[in-house]
Amino acid sequence: MSHTKEPSFRESVDLMFNRAVALMDLAPGLEEKIRVCNATYTVRFGVRLRGQIHTFTGYRSVHSEHKEPVKGGIRYAMGVNQDEVEALAALMTYKCALVEAPFGGAKGGLRIDPRQYDEYELEMITRRFTYELVKRDLINPSQNVPAPDMGTSEREMAWIADHYARMNTTDINAQACVTGKPLNAGGIAGRVEATGRGVQYALREFFRDDMGVQKAGLTGTLDGKRVIVQGLGNVGYHAAKFLSEEDGCKITGIIERDGALFNPDGLDVEAVHHWIVGHGGVSGYPDATHTAEGAAVLEKECDILIPAALEGVVNLSNAKRIKAPLIIEAANGPITAGADDILREKGTVIIPDMYANAGGVTVSYFEWVKNLGHIRFGRMGRRQEEARHQLLIDELERLDKYLGGAWSMTPNFKAKYLRGADELELVRSGLDDTMRTAYQSMRDVWHERQDVTDLRTAAYLVSISRVAASYRAKGL
Ligand code: GLU
Repeated sequence: MSHTKEPSFRESVDLMFNRAVALMDLAPGLEEKIRVCNATYTVRFGVRLRGQIHTFTGYRSVHSEHKEPVKGGIRYAMGVNQDEVEALAALMTYKCALVEAPFGGAKGGLRIDPRQYDEYELEMITRRFTYELVKRDLINPSQNVPAPDMGTSEREMAWIADHYARMNTTDINAQACVTGKPLNAGGIAGRVEATGRGVQYALREFFRDDMGVQKAGLTGTLDGKRVIVQGLGNVGYHAAKFLSEEDGCKITGIIERDGALFNPDGLDVEAVHHWIVGHGGVSGYPDATHTAEGAAVLEKECDILIPAALEGVVNLSNAKRIKAPLIIEAANGPITAGADDILREKGTVIIPDMYANAGGVTVSYFEWVKNLGHIRFGRMGRRQEEARHQLLIDELERLDKYLGGAWSMTPNFKAKYLRGADELELVRSGLDDTMRTAYQSMRDVWHERQDVTDLRTAAYLVSISRVAASYRAKGL
């Protein structure tokens, strides 16, 4: 299959979905039911700011309700539109199924440039948007649970949680209406770093798969690998930081809005991050070559390319020139369907978004369970520790069974719980278990089926068959 024209983001996701479905034996019509978005709500609302009314456009799209609540972040960016929100909601469905987080898929977005508003204004806008969504049950602990995404963070999640609680004063589970909250407002340790941490765990697991490493034409371990990261936002920053500080990777390139930095000896991620925070961009950073045309650095030689910002950055115009033998999609949809065809033909191995960036929603699941359980994770008083932990394990096991996922009770998690580990340690070990198990489920399909030549198709096969199994079990 070759494309001459770039499809839209949603069409791109559908094309990749169709490639996998062609290899499956689904009941007639079920393929379409799974592929399409169930509903997308568009809202236009006004907020009085600086003496005049500003009108904003927001969306919340529900892709699949085969499990509820549905889950997915809320993005604040000027590029937000219905096509994008629907593509992202679909990816959430497949992502949750792949890592066995018992949620359907959703996504939200607000067309806004958050840098144009101060904190107070953003709070007014967020609360008003929240009101519109809560009113229609598009934010609700048992039906629809947002989280941070591009342009939003724990600050916005705290406003959302507070506003939901004000509108639902008797809902004892109000805190669970959104995840990614600050620690002191019902959040969980390790949620901020979770997506980047998940990218690190994904790469570690990939490098344990000798056959996969060989298919990428690489050898050895992560140690010494040259890595180029596009986007040093929350995801890119944490991935680059952990890979360089803990796995011996050399971050040779960092691409940002205002250009790119390159240093074959490796960049100091903390120092670059600090520079960006202080100067608003990478320009002027002393210990590297600066290229104003950032996209060119995507095409530089390296071992691992990590697109960690927007969708569609690897497309028909540059795919042929990408030299990295291994690409891990820390962002959602960074490679278009056409570029994916070109890269597959070249033999590039792509660790797909729905797996690579699933660390965020995985830890969101932990946070949601923690909120619903009304318990504190981690160390308790010493005397009661063991009995209390056993009680909590029993409770979580019941909850997990009820939710249909055997997820949080993985052996590693359980052992740590019995030892009374800290919350952060628990979260990391649960995330690690999840990323390993999910990789292995894709890997088996990738290596064992003759008709599956790439990890993305393998990931779709695993997740679509899980969604199909849910529909078969409970009906439409
Ligand atoms: N926005 C993140 C994503 O795209 C996290 C979603 C969540 O935690 O619900 O996966």
